[in-house]
Amino acid sequence: GGFQSMGLSYPVYKGVMKKGYKVPTPIQRKTVPVILDGKDIVAMARTGSGKTAAFLVPMFEKLKAPQASGARALILTPTRELALQTMKFTKELGKFTGLKTALILGGDRMDDQFAALHENPDIIIGTPGRLMHVIQEMNLKLYGVEYVVFDEADRLFEMGFAEQLQEIIRRLPDNRQTLLFSATLPKLLVEFARAGLTEPVLIRL
Ligand code: AMP
Repeated sequence: GGFQSMGLSYPVYKGVMKKGYKVPTPIQRKTVPVILDGKDIVAMARTGSGKTAAFLVPMFEKLKAPQASGARALILTPTRELALQTMKFTKELGKFTGLKTALILGGDRMDDQFAALHENPDIIIGTPGRLMHVIQEMNLKLYGVEYVVFDEADRLFEMGFAEQLQEIIRRLPDNRQTLLFSATLPKLLVEFARAGLTEPVLIRL
């Protein structure tokens, strides 16, 4: 099946076509239908596999149109570079959805980030340390978040974000959909997935 058989709405499909993606990559073929079905997943995927679009495409589908009700999707990344790249992808692929995205990164000016959050973003992309800081400083509420991605989750742990991740997860509503993408699955991560995901489907290539 190609992208046209995935049941995507026109603005999402148009973004995929505009990006020049002709056929889904193997990881996209395996994950997108399961995510669209509303399931939590643990996907073993590396950079270069097309993993970013694998979680962005169903996220756009789920969020549909912009709403001024507070963030509904949260994407956590281990590094600034990955967050910036994911933001770029989100803007390009999601171009026709009208969804708004805020980037929350260590090293950037706090007041710029506060301003971005006051614009009612649908999606927040960030690194866990700064996000936790902003949650506390701004009293940012995450209870409208229905779609959460832990991208490069093994690196999130390697970089020492375990405590912040637990803090962030505690603030999320129970009825969310949670996706974990990781190149490797160390024991710590399996335990984290057991606690933070609901009956996740394990996807590997
Ligand atoms: P990622 O693994 O998410 O970092 O993506 C690696 C590269 O693959 C990026 O340049 C994407 O734009 C590209 N890509 C993702 N999905 C597809 C696809 N279905 N067809 C062609 N290129 C893709």
